Amino acid sequence: PAIEAEFERWIAQFGLEKEVKIVKTGCFGLCQKGPIVAIHPDRVFYCQVKPEDVHEIVSEHLYKGRRVERLEMHDIDEETKDKIFNIDKIRFYAKQQRIALRNCGVINPEDIMEYIARDGYMALGKVLTEMTPQQVVDEIMASGLRGRGGGGFPTGRKWQFALNEKNDEKYVICNADEGDPGAFMDRSILEGDPHAVLEAMAIAGYAIGSHHGYIYIRAEYPIAVDRLKIAIRQAEENGLLGKNILGTGFDFTLEIRLGAGAFVCGEETALIASIEGKRGMPTPKPPFPAVKGVWGKPTIINNVETFANVAQIINKGAAWFKSIGTEKSSGTKVFALGGKVVNTGLVEVPMGTTLREVIYEIGGGCPNNKRFKAVQTGGPSGGCLTEADLDSPIDFDTLIAKGSMMGSGGMIVMDEDNCMVDIARFYMDFIVDESCGKCTPCRVGTKRLLELLTDICEGRGTLETIDELERLSYSIKDTALCGLGQTAPNPVLSTLRFFKDEYIAHVVDKK
Ligand code: SF4
Repeated sequence: PAIEAEFERWIAQFGLEKEVKIVKTGCFGLCQKGPIVAIHPDRVFYCQVKPEDVHEIVSEHLYKGRRVERLEMHDIDEETKDKIFNIDKIRFYAKQQRIALRNCGVINPEDIMEYIARDGYMALGKVLTEMTPQQVVDEIMASGLRGRGGGGFPTGRKWQFALNEKNDEKYVICNADEGDPGAFMDRSILEGDPHAVLEAMAIAGYAIGSHHGYIYIRAEYPIAVDRLKIAIRQAEENGLLGKNILGTGFDFTLEIRLGAGAFVCGEETALIASIEGKRGMPTPKPPFPAVKGVWGKPTIINNVETFANVAQIINKGAAWFKSIGTEKSSGTKVFALGGKVVNTGLVEVPMGTTLREVIYEIGGGCPNNKRFKAVQTGGPSGGCLTEADLDSPIDFDTLIAKGSMMGSGGMIVMDEDNCMVDIARFYMDFIVDESCGKCTPCRVGTKRLLELLTDICEGRGTLETIDELERLSYSIKDTALCGLGQTAPNPVLSTLRFFKDEYIAHVVDKK
């Protein structure tokens, strides 16, 4: 607000109100360098702007047309060194391809007209007037879009199951209960481009024959919640949500449901229970939600990033989307790049991009020339990848084959100073807090894993402790009821696989 107020003040002082428009946008992605001010159409990118810098930007750049070099981001590709610095050439952005994030940092998320000006709601108009529900499902199926929430299940297949169900009452749910430590992809999309999600949910509603949807979002995301409320209201006022959308006779309404921050409520069946006003606890599948979901009716649940791709697939076609990424993982993936990396922030790259490209070319590598040690993908359900994996392509199947997983997109980089046993303990501590307690392997087992890890970290462990840790991890994986418990031991197992020497050093040297 202070920077915005300064811009208003100086723009008025220089009499530029007619020429310059201030647009408050969502996240630019490059968190490390915020607050960011981008000047268009010049595409100049000013970083770490303070209120006291604003006078110079207005007087020099906006008034005299002279760029303020000291505030520009100079990290650009070698070959473009002598040319003009602009957003497209900054190394952080040059390797990215923005589909889900295309409007983030570009439009004012509180103004539906800015979304419409960027082809917003065109896809909804197209499906309602030119396509049958089956054609919509076929298009999503042909695009190869897979769920970005972690599982990677083909979105088109999920929609087809729900379409096949004969029922007058069906539901569409957006899972915005992002809870992985270090993950903020969904929050940024909702804060920066909420209409992309609303439009996709209406398209999904038409495709499966549903007239009502829920956005299940954590109450800890107040800005996203506010922007969603504004977006829903504006869409309703413009005939893009509600009764008789665009005069086509199709009705679709949306409701926001706030979650209380329980990680387990990201699990589909727990999320459904929570929407129904019950305690958020998982139940065994089948039945799957596409057959018996919220209120016992067929329901599709997709996460925010999955929905953020839908309108563009309809507008540009399945073949366009399929041409991006790899054969079995099409499109792009958004990652929240954090930990020991120079450029922390939100990154969207085509599937198949290597870890090296993300961590070094986009992320700028580890700070202070420290040696890269590992990267944790998939949050507390995922695992770590090491230096040997740096040239592996990032896609759903490669990560699983390497003992980790895509997850929702958290990517935490660790350097030579990080203790991998401590990392495993951190994630286990998180899981113990978040276990819903319904089944014994997870409720008791993860607590025991945490005790064993703490013993090792605090010098009370032996070689037998490490063996017990491994044995117990496998039995929890095999016997826990839901995905949270089944994947909870992954950080332990993957650190044991690649860094067993560190565990042994702890128990032998008692450090
Ligand atoms: Fe609850 Fe954990 Fe069992 Fe899932 S595995 S039902 S989170 S106790």
